[in-house]
Amino acid sequence: MNATRNTSNYHIELEDKYGAHNYHPLPVVLDRGEGVFVWDVEGKRYYDFLSAYSAVNQGHSHPKIVKALTEQAQKLALTSRAFHNSKLGEYEEKVTKRFGFDKVLPMNSGAEAVETAVKLARKWSYEVKGIQENAAKIIVCENNFHGRTTTIVSFSNDPDASKNYGPFTPGFVKIPYNDLGALEEVLKNDAQNIAAFLVEPIQGEAGVYVPDEGFLKKAAELCKQHNVLFIADEVQTGIARTGKMIACNHEDVQPDILVLGKALSGGMYPVSAVFANNDIMNVIKPGQHGSTFGGNPLACAVATAALDVVEEENLAERAEKLGNIFRTEIEKLIEKTDLISGVRGKGLLNAILINDTPESTTAWDLCLALKENGLLAKPTHGNIIRLAPPLVITEEQIMECVDIIRKTVIEFRK
Ligand SMILES: *Cc1c(COP(=O)(O)O)cnc(C)c1O
Repeated sequence: MNATRNTSNYHIELEDKYGAHNYHPLPVVLDRGEGVFVWDVEGKRYYDFLSAYSAVNQGHSHPKIVKALTEQAQKLALTSRAFHNSKLGEYEEKVTKRFGFDKVLPMNSGAEAVETAVKLARKWSYEVKGIQENAAKIIVCENNFHGRTTTIVSFSNDPDASKNYGPFTPGFVKIPYNDLGALEEVLKNDAQNIAAFLVEPIQGEAGVYVPDEGFLKKAAELCKQHNVLFIADEVQTGIARTGKMIACNHEDVQPDILVLGKALSGGMYPVSAVFANNDIMNVIKPGQHGSTFGGNPLACAVATAALDVVEEENLAERAEKLGNIFRTEIEKLIEKTDLISGVRGKGLLNAILINDTPESTTAWDLCLALKENGLLAKPTHGNIIRLAPPLVITEEQIMECVDIIRKTVIEFRK
């Protein structure tokens, strides 16, 4: 190694040499975090405007979540589900009541929870709906992001996500996002073979695409009419990010299956969950699905504390209010610059659109400039920059961040 030990370059060179190159990170090496801030190994402080893809809604190293983690780690971390544990039942009661379902199936990563939802919907469709075995289809949307497993990338249309990972899992029908006509068409023609419609209430990875008002409600109604399960993947939109506990709440939609992950644990530990009522969840019987780590006592303690923080600190209301302020301020900036052509989002899940092609490096270069000025964000799909700070951010801090963004944009030269 050429770089001096414990400089950013030192760590970057190590990762480059010994780690798989499956990411292209911004050149910053983070060492510490607290609330809305992270610090690099040189000690420079940044506002975190990615929040680990909305996993850290409660802020970095929230003391209440750290306490729950450390206390439980010293007591009991993992038992497997071969035995009961003294944290799981109370956690399950709490989350099912909180989200309004009969039952929860605990997993770890978001992708595992989506896989679980796919399996659950398929099994329900054969054993309850009565679809002929192996004929069930699940409707998904173009430009979806649901994770990285072989089955999930089977219905991705991002070539980076799927190329040369085949053969792929069949049984998925793709329709354009936010297109009720297309959904109705597929349902009308083929409802008897369709198990579910899997959708993100806002497409996060695709670039924070917010569907038209009423889309979720109408889509859920169409599913109900055709005896098709409405599955909401709220791994990114859930846990107060968009200004409601889950984004479906904006339209008073209760999905048949709800998938949560990321901020369910405040980003402290991988915790995901699949929710459904008994008529659906009871199709899975002992031995038919599982996970060594799913529902472990450490995960239950952490997620319980993480949900308490969301409620005690009114993070949903805060996201709603500060999101409105943020978009209003960015709209004002758009009038003064040609660099940004739009801002969109809900609550504190927002994106700015860079006035250049997706192939250009403009958004990346702007993120580098933002980094120099103390704010971390990353482009998604080339010319879109997602801006999603921890929800514990204050109004004063949001205004300071708007100042950083304004200054960076005004001074930016291609
Ligand atoms: C991040 C994400 C996932 C995958 O979660 P992992 O924990 O990375 O497996 C699934 N769905 C959505 C909508 C996501 O944003």
